Amino acid sequence: MEIPHIHPDTIEAVQQEVDIVDVISEYVVLRKRGKDYLGLCPFHNEKSPSFSVSQDKQVYYCFGCGVGGNTFKFVMEIGKQSFAEVVLDLARRYQIPVKTLEPEKRQEIQRQLTLREQLYEVLAVTANFYQHALQQSQGKHALEYLRAERKLANKTISQFQLGYAPGGWETLYRYLVEQKRYPVSLLESCGLIKQRSTGNGYYDVFRDRVTIPILDIRGRVIGFGSRTLGDDKPKYLNSPETPLFDKSRTLFNLDKAHKTIATEDRAIVVEGYFDAIALYTAGITNGVAALGTALTSHQIKQLLRYTASKQIILNFDGDNAGIKATERAISEVKDLVYSGQVQLRVLNLESGKDADEFLLSRSDAVDIYRKSLDNAPLWINWQINNLISGKNLKAADEMQQVATGMVRLLNRLQDANQRNYYLNYCAEILSQGDARLVSQNLASLQSQLSPSYRKNFKIRKTKKQAHNPKSQRTGNGSRYPLGRASGVSPDDVSSTFLKEDAMGEPSDLMVVAPRSPISGGADLSGNPICEAVSRGTSSNAPSVRVATSPETQLLTEAESLLLLIYIHCPRYRENILEKLEDKDLCFSLSHHRFLWQQIIEIETKNPEKIKLEKDFLLTCLHNNIVNYPEYVNLIIPFLHLEEKTEEDIFRAAARIENAIASLELVNCIKYKIYCTEQWKKLDPITEKQAMSELYQEIQISKKRIEELEKMRIAYSQDLIVNS
Ligand SMILES: [Zn+2]
Repeated sequence: MEIPHIHPDTIEAVQQEVDIVDVISEYVVLRKRGKDYLGLCPFHNEKSPSFSVSQDKQVYYCFGCGVGGNTFKFVMEIGKQSFAEVVLDLARRYQIPVKTLEPEKRQEIQRQLTLREQLYEVLAVTANFYQHALQQSQGKHALEYLRAERKLANKTISQFQLGYAPGGWETLYRYLVEQKRYPVSLLESCGLIKQRSTGNGYYDVFRDRVTIPILDIRGRVIGFGSRTLGDDKPKYLNSPETPLFDKSRTLFNLDKAHKTIATEDRAIVVEGYFDAIALYTAGITNGVAALGTALTSHQIKQLLRYTASKQIILNFDGDNAGIKATERAISEVKDLVYSGQVQLRVLNLESGKDADEFLLSRSDAVDIYRKSLDNAPLWINWQINNLISGKNLKAADEMQQVATGMVRLLNRLQDANQRNYYLNYCAEILSQGDARLVSQNLASLQSQLSPSYRKNFKIRKTKKQAHNPKSQRTGNGSRYPLGRASGVSPDDVSSTFLKEDAMGEPSDLMVVAPRSPISGGADLSGNPICEAVSRGTSSNAPSVRVATSPETQLLTEAESLLLLIYIHCPRYRENILEKLEDKDLCFSLSHHRFLWQQIIEIETKNPEKIKLEKDFLLTCLHNNIVNYPEYVNLIIPFLHLEEKTEEDIFRAAARIENAIASLELVNCIKYKIYCTEQWKKLDPITEKQAMSELYQEIQISKKRIEELEKMRIAYSQDLIVNS
């Protein structure tokens, strides 16, 4: 979509609505320091935070590298977006109506905004429907379950908008589609119905279940959790991922809890919906629940926005599964934990109860729970306790096990003070009250710790070696995975191609020097796709491949595919055009450009026939090509499908994605090389500013290259799996 000129009113409204701390917190963990917030600068490498954000002034500034500006500037820089894109993006996220200077474009933007609005609407209507059904005779057993087994009061049931999804296969479907006249596709996008695998028609995702709406921070329904009332599996079922609902970035009850999290300066994370609800009704209103099993770093970062001292208490079940879940959560956020960016504590309740069970178990449960929160051990003490628990420290082998576990734990701590503290702590535990043994144990633990400076040194050395151009440039250009059976694993690709340099300098500059990617196809003979693919995938001779640069190879394949699909599958034409336009891509190889030009000419001259006659384009191309003898051999293969190419077209949608990512990747690589060449030419003393700008560009390209590589690998795997 072309970016329109945005009306100043909209810019003003976005500026008023959006909070800079909110926006930056999505990228940087911010801690409150006096009036302002402080974090690690996302624009330069640093170990101690010098990036400051002022909520009063709505600006940021880095004392390390000097970057600064307002919210718009931040999002522009971090996402490499234009001003208008940023305004639109923020307007979309904050539900601010967009006015443009060109009225004709307003409609398209409004349409996109409206889709999200419609999803919200359908979900809200559904939540009402479920709520209503809970009070009807069909929902009697569900209501009974909530009252009797969960001990929930009517007030709580309505506060959390709990409901009942009726037992039929199409109850919700009928209500929303036949009665309310919502389009089926909208319901599907909301994850409320699914297409039947046999025959036609749709069925409700949630049937005979208690439903628990999941709300976003602004209190809008974005999905549902549910619990079965029969023997249906699974016991708990959530909405699938949708444009509004991203499990890894959503926490149940954050909408109600965030204010208390801020005032009490700590957040509690429990396992289940009913735990969070039980806490809330008991007056402990800073509890949230993770959705599904593992807590993600995105979720933790969300919580950290609200607690100035970064205190989070994990209160998962105390049974084995709960302990495993806690350990998984700790390791999921280990970067934040080991570096001390979050004060993570772990609360296990007596006899393995979860919060819900515990609060119902005795009359003074709430008091005890609050006291337990205050006394919850830090995650590392909790892990040390787990190491010792059940072990007989008098037995030599068990003692040894404990000591080994301690060393492993201590080695992960990045902060030297913290490590020293726990070194002593562990030594004391191992000494079992015998003061004479402490210094001995301390020394022996210490001797097993890997000195951090030596560790860092080692890492740097290996990384430097990985960048040795001689060891990497074999010249056979086989760095890219070429779909199936390429002989190059994804790991190979990332390790030879994209390793981040330990010194943070652009030192992998020499990795790829393209040999004229616009080679006019002179290195291709006959059928471009079949030749290129079979050469690329020949497993017995990967090292003696034809010496095209990897970029050219990739371009050839990707461009050929897009052209083939375009010519032979009319229904994908719109999609290909859109993607090329969207990413600002064009064909690079000269015979591809030629063919594309022919296509466009034919289409422009005969818009109607193109639409109506399936093979019109193909016939025209056939007729035209004879006038261009120099291109005949190169173009003919595009006009006839061979077995291999037929197969490519068969999985067109995924292949288009893959090809587009490849084209963008080659562009990015070329751009990075260009920047790097420029960078090398600059004088570090007199052209510092230009160097730093180019360096930023290089880093951004690197990141994008990594992302695109990942996307390509994912698509290739998709194709393998589905083939
Ligand atoms: Zn900085």
